[in-house]
This record gives sequence, C-alpha cells and structure tokens, in this order.
Amino acid sequence: MHFLITGGAGFLGSHLTDALVARGDEVTVLDDLSTGRARNLSPAAGLAFVEGSVLDRDLVERLTARADCAVHLAAKVGVRLILDSPRETIETNVEGTRHVLDACARHGKRVLLASSSEVYGLSEELPFREDAPVLRGATSEPRWCYASSKELGERLALAYARESGLDVRIARFFNVVGPRQRGRYGMVLPNFVRQALSGEPITVFGDGTQTRSFLHVADWVRAVSSLLEVPAARGEVVNVGSPREVAIERVGRLVRERLASSSPIVHMPYREVYGIRTPDLVRRVPDTAKLEALTGFRAELSLEEAIDDLARERGAVPSR
Ligand code: UDP
Repeated sequence: MHFLITGGAGFLGSHLTDALVARGDEVTVLDDLSTGRARNLSPAAGLAFVEGSVLDRDLVERLTARADCAVHLAAKVGVRLILDSPRETIETNVEGTRHVLDACARHGKRVLLASSSEVYGLSEELPFREDAPVLRGATSEPRWCYASSKELGERLALAYARESGLDVRIARFFNVVGPRQRGRYGMVLPNFVRQALSGEPITVFGDGTQTRSFLHVADWVRAVSSLLEVPAARGEVVNVGSPREVAIERVGRLVRERLASSSPIVHMPYREVYGIRTPDLVRRVPDTAKLEALTGFRAELSLEEAIDDLARERGAVPSR
C-alpha cells in the first residue's frame, strides 16, 4: 500500500511512518516542518518526503491521486501555539482538512482523520464516549479554537462520507506520549522529563489534581494501523487512548522518582502560565470500549515506559 501521511515529520506521524515503512509499505510524507522536523524521518527505501503545506490545495490533490490511502495528521497543536495563533489554527485545521477530504473523496481514497480528545471540551460525563454531546467554552476564550476546528473537521468528514461515499475513519487521540515529543508547545511529559534531568523545578500547572490518561506512541501506532484496516471502522468516530487516569501531580512525582531527580515540584497558577482566564480541563479519560470492539486493541505500554523512553532519548538511564 502507498500511504500519504500529512504531518508525517511530526511526533506522531514519524512513528507511524517508521512502522509502515518497516512492514514494506510505501509512504509519502507531506509536512511544512512548522512543528515537525526532517530529522524525525530516517531515510529509507519506500519513503518520500515532500516539504509543503496542506493549505496548498494542488499539492494535496496531486499527492492524494498517487497514494492508496491518506492519514491526515497535519495540524496546529499544543496549547501554547493555539493561544498564540488562533487564526492560523482555525485556517490550517479547517482548510487543510477540507483539502485532504476533498481530494480523497474525488479520488476514492480511504482516509484516517486525526481528531482530539479536546473535542469533548468541558463535558463532565466521564469517561468520554464517542456518542456523547460535546461542550465548548465561550468564543472569547481562544483555547476553544482548536477544539472547534477539530470538531468542524469531524463534521466535514462525516458530511463527505454521507454525501460522497468517502471512506473516512475519525480517531480522537488522548494525550499520546513518547520519544520525539517536544515540550515547547505545552506538552507535559517531555517538559517534566527535561526538567527532571536538568535539575530544574518540575512545573505542575494549577493544583495538580487535574487528570489525563497517557497513551504510549508505540501503542498509538498499533491502534491507528488497525483502524486504518478494519472495515467496520469506516464512517466511525473512535477514541484512541489509555483508560488509566493519572493526576498531573502524580505524573510529576513519577518522573522525579524514575529519573532519580532532585528537582523540586513547584506549582504555577494556570493563569500565570498562559495569561488567560480559561480554566484547565479537570479530568480527561476515554471510554475505550468502541476501539476495543472494533480492533481488539488494548494499551500495553505504561506511562512509566513512556517516561523511560523519553529519558533514554536524552541520553539518560532511568533508575529502575
Ligand atoms: N502541564 C503541567 N506542566 C507543564 C505542562 C503541562 O502541569 O509543564 C499540565 C497542563 O496544565 C494539563 C496537563 O499537564 O493539565 C496536560 O497538558 P498538555 O499540554 O500536555 O496536554 P492537554 O492540556 O492538551 O491535555
């Protein structure tokens, strides 16, 4: 199979690219290197890299025509980036997605669309189920630009499925973590690992009781590969995450222990970090029953393994 992976030089895309190339598939990566890095991709037979944007409609069209299947990961992500560039977030995430969906519909190509747990927004019905209502904050709060852009992408994809028979699978990712992830745009785990290894304070935002569930990127690759393949996933919205819920304070302590770090854990008010009044999301945990029923997938790697892998990438040896 020949895959087009938009955003393929990013954290997630490069891991998927590695796995597909390793099993003998052909991959074309389209990435504008805004947050992705060319060095995430190791040169390999069967891999072609195209530097460009999903906003370039003609380019997306040409690359889609040549592939059998697309995985659309290219997007503006990360709380920091979204708050700094809400207009670009909306434009890239909505317009870029429209280009990919449109090209796939016209050429009859299957597509997996990357969505996000952010789509659930302020919903308090936990664990989050794919068929539950979603809830946004006020339009004056830029944080919700990302969630709205992803929600619109989903709605557009489902509209193409209904009206043009597009074979689309929509995956809502929940805090995927592992090597090659960077902390620059917010992401908690690479931040904590870097801080712990350099002896800097580990910065827990807010009181640290907010929770997330973390999925190791190697598990993520398995889940996404299955969703691309199983016929029953066609036209479905599916959570991709781990059901293990962990408080951020506990994540800080875990990183500190595993890396035998003497970094103090400090608390920073969310408002001070991002300079906005938007509260942090209090709890986030996926209902994974649908993913399991469709693909048989269950997360196998732990948060601890993701911490160790991130530390090893920085040349450190985890203490246990
Ligand atoms: N967070 C933190 N310290 C950091 C970065 C993030 O305490 O240095 C918190 C953040 O406030 C949130 C959680 O960790 O509660 C996950 O943040 P991330 O940006 O990784 O993902 P998201 O907020 O999208 O779940």
